[in-house]
Amino acid sequence: MAELRLYDTRTRSVREFEPRDPGRVGIYVCGPTVYARIHIGNARPFVVFSLLKRFLEHAGYTVCLVVNVTDVNDKIYAAARGGSSIELADTMTAAYVADTDRLELGRPDHEPLASASIAAMVEEIAVLLNGGHAYVAGGDVYFRVRRDAGYGALSGRDVDSMDQGEGVEGVDLKEDPLDFALWKAHKADEDSAWDAPWGRGRPGWHIECSAMAESLLGVGFDIHGGGLDLLFPHHENEAAQTRSARGAELAAHWMHNGMLAATDGEKMSKSLGNIAPLYEVLDRHGRDAVILYFASAHYRQPIAYGDEPIAAAAAGVQRIRDAARRLVAGDSPLELRPLHVRFFEALADDFNTPSALAAMWDWIRGANRRAGPVGDRDLREMLGVLGLENLFDVPGPPAALLALAEARAIARAEDDYARADELRAQIEAGGWSVRDTPTGFELTPLA
Ligand code: ZN
Repeated sequence: MAELRLYDTRTRSVREFEPRDPGRVGIYVCGPTVYARIHIGNARPFVVFSLLKRFLEHAGYTVCLVVNVTDVNDKIYAAARGGSSIELADTMTAAYVADTDRLELGRPDHEPLASASIAAMVEEIAVLLNGGHAYVAGGDVYFRVRRDAGYGALSGRDVDSMDQGEGVEGVDLKEDPLDFALWKAHKADEDSAWDAPWGRGRPGWHIECSAMAESLLGVGFDIHGGGLDLLFPHHENEAAQTRSARGAELAAHWMHNGMLAATDGEKMSKSLGNIAPLYEVLDRHGRDAVILYFASAHYRQPIAYGDEPIAAAAAGVQRIRDAARRLVAGDSPLELRPLHVRFFEALADDFNTPSALAAMWDWIRGANRRAGPVGDRDLREMLGVLGLENLFDVPGPPAALLALAEARAIARAEDDYARADELRAQIEAGGWSVRDTPTGFELTPLA
């Protein structure tokens, strides 16, 4: 196994990955804020980190993947106005689980709910208050950004040009506009609140993640992941909170996936209305195409989204199925082995899935060119890491169509082409196409 190298956002370099505990990898990924059905953009970190987990497991590591559910958040209170924020969050959490289940990549090992982790958040805020890293103001608690000498290092920003994006909220209470909320005092129009030593209220978004990540993985775990849009202020603030409270870094490696971009280059977002819900994309294209689509781009790069790229992925899925159907069970030819090696080396080099896929396509082309049966083992292993081994589960043609194809082969051998054409039409009416190869006929499902 080649040395594993991953890009680290904090050091802005690809560096060797060495887990804190030999053989074990802890990954925390910021999950969805459950105020609406998740969209195809939210599915990218879910797919990228689920596949990364598969690859690390294939490389021999025991992986613990934590993806939280942000079910206490401003966006949820705002979306639930007039109704229950708790019911909305419950409904959308269930929808998120159902939608991502359809990707068939398994569940993360832990999916903590912010609402079930309040005690850990209160504890961490108390530590920050005791250490002078935070202060109470009007029932809110704010983090003193300028007391953290390391602030800005993760996102590479200059402290004086930062904006926490909290708008006018708490502006008269903050000692410094740069400070951000750890706790927000209960407001009359919010229907959930918890007790804390400094007053009733609810946690800010950033402390939720620090507390949940530390509770499940400890301080200094291996990989913190999420979308690039979360780098600032969310991840910068998570890092600052843990550094200040615990005197140690939250995570050793920070990995960020790129965003989706419309094929015309326009930014995609729910508010612009140009991004589809995940369930709709799955209805239209299926999970195989969605996974191959995400794997076709390097996780750090933006990825073009639209019907065209997903349709291209669906065509790729079909080509893989066709190739899988032609293979036989058993060892693959040694001559193709270097391509299998290249596939795994590409993944070990900053999880370069497009480069790995290129090696896989070369393997498939090589297999197609070979005369005689080709063993499936290498392709199964590659597809397994991509969560696509199911592409081997191709139901064969029904016996009745197989009999028609055999009758057609006999008709052709007897030069009865009219009869052969008639039989071909019957096979196609059954949803399959027939193709003649040097070794006999081949039936493939019509697209
Ligand atoms: Zn987070």
